[in-house]
Amino acid sequence: GNKSINAKLVLLGDVGAGKSSLVLRFVKGQFVEFQESTIGAAFFSQTLAVNDATVKFEIWDTAGQERYHSLAPMYYRGAAAAIIVYDISNQASFERAKKWVQELQAQGNPNMVMALAGNKADLVDARKVTAEEAQVYAQENGLFFMETSAKTAANVNDIFFEIAKRLPRV
Ligand code: GDP
Ligand code: MG
Repeated sequence: GNKSINAKLVLLGDVGAGKSSLVLRFVKGQFVEFQESTIGAAFFSQTLAVNDATVKFEIWDTAGQERYHSLAPMYYRGAAAAIIVYDISNQASFERAKKWVQELQAQGNPNMVMALAGNKADLVDARKVTAEEAQVYAQENGLFFMETSAKTAANVNDIFFEIAKRLPRV
């Protein structure tokens, strides 16, 4: 039969990497050039049907600012999945993403499905982080990797779909 799965998912990553934009694209199919920055965290839910299951994502979009860092465990604790987002045109955001991965590996649910999103893939001319180095990093650290664009919608549904496929079937 078709299983119904509730999955808490958290987005983590540097301010401006595009976390809120990815959620807006996934949940509402929209993009705005001047996305307001997130205060604290925002909650969304979206249902996705995969082959054998219907997954209801309970999505926590976090702020990313250092001053909210101490709140992050509230959002990633008990999470079934995380998307760690960086901006392919910003090397510092990639370094910040690695810090989040380390923190999740140390403090998060050991069975968490972790995705690394190299967002703003449309900004090819401004690229600072190659897909190859991100892929190698992801592979070495047990994440799966995709480059996404909240602006063009490239790989946005796909990354959530891939997470849904990887969630444990209870
Ligand atoms: P957050 O702080 O991680 O939530 O980032 P936001 O979603 O607020 O996005 C920060 C800025 O980057 C906004 O001006 C967005 O319009 C822009 N942005 C987000 N995703 C993309 C993308 O895929 N491509 C481009 N070109 N800009 C993006
Ligand atoms: Mg935001």
